Amino acid sequence: MLALEMFRSLPRHVAGRAVGGRVPGLLSGFAAPLRLVTREAPRVDRPGWARLRTRVSGICGSDLGALSGRTSLYFSAVSSLPFVPGHEIVAELLDDCEDLPAGTRVVLDPVLACATRGVEPCEACRVGATNRCSRITVGHLAPGLQTGFCRDTGGGWGQQLAAHRSQLHPVAEGLDDHQALLLEPLACAVHTALRAGVSSGDRVLVSGAGAVGLFATLALRELTPAGHVTVVAKHPHQRELALALGATDVVAPREVLRRVRRTTGAFQVSPQLHAPYLLGGVDVAIDAVGSRGSLETALQSTRAGGRVVLSGMPAAADLSAAWFRELELVGTYASAAREPLHGAEGGARAGRAAFDLAADLAAHDAVARIAGSVATYPLHRWREALDHAHAAGRLGTVKVAFDPRRTD
Ligand SMILES: [Zn+2]
Repeated sequence: MLALEMFRSLPRHVAGRAVGGRVPGLLSGFAAPLRLVTREAPRVDRPGWARLRTRVSGICGSDLGALSGRTSLYFSAVSSLPFVPGHEIVAELLDDCEDLPAGTRVVLDPVLACATRGVEPCEACRVGATNRCSRITVGHLAPGLQTGFCRDTGGGWGQQLAAHRSQLHPVAEGLDDHQALLLEPLACAVHTALRAGVSSGDRVLVSGAGAVGLFATLALRELTPAGHVTVVAKHPHQRELALALGATDVVAPREVLRRVRRTTGAFQVSPQLHAPYLLGGVDVAIDAVGSRGSLETALQSTRAGGRVVLSGMPAAADLSAAWFRELELVGTYASAAREPLHGAEGGARAGRAAFDLAADLAAHDAVARIAGSVATYPLHRWREALDHAHAAGRLGTVKVAFDPRRTD
């Protein structure tokens, strides 16, 4: 089968600045850690596992980070080279898989937790917090936090992969492949919104309006009692979508402090040789990018005692505000098999899989519009696809994906 293969990790020093809009680090051929190869399709010889044929697989910010050397080598211990990237996956079963017959269209929860590895469930998995699994390096699979970072499973950027029943969510007939493709990022957004611990009427800032920020905005609106939600967006289509998905207002990056100061009655101070920040500000800020700038925007706009949620894979940042303003820093990674819902928003929804809650969100009009604008590429045009994903915001795209069935 054909697949894109990541065959080496890039140390951070290789990562340069983006030149001419290309993915940094991929610019020079010698540094490109990705190649198109003919590989043996993953074999399946354990109960609960099945082979799948990829229909479409998305490109996520974390993929671009790994491919351009911006990701911390921290993650090298929880992945195994060479691997086929791609963890946002819509596929069809080639084998029967327990209760699911061959041919069933599914989306993957990519986390490779205890159930997939054939080991006794760890404490986290036992309560459904599969994204916190501590056994992601052991069992019969090579280390890998997710499908798309593990040598043994294949990934969505290949024509076939293997997956475990516990990862599979059948797709409702009413959703087309591009809508189904958004279920994984929507599930992550559900988890983010629930991790944000929003209280009734809280003012929330979402820093970034790519797929992560847009879907977090929707999940905040639908699943939490958030009050005023301000979204930081750079591009016109992002502004429009953020408003459609529930933002109260949308602001350009350089206007954030001024707007938050006005809507919350905060004071702005201007230190020497340092960006200004607020005394006072929003109750909760979500960094939905993971860049230094985006995270610092979140830190500098949050009131003392407030909460900053790390939703993008984070870069280094000045953490002075976290100390001085006693901020709570909350990480949010992937999604859980059973999501906790807090306070008044719990009840009937508590204990449901993030993917099930995501299916409810996928019905939203603006999500359907985003699905309608998904741009797909055949595997052999991977450089073009990655460049497009890297510049997606500027080009008016929210999601770029591979369709390994295409050969054009
Ligand atoms: Zn586990």
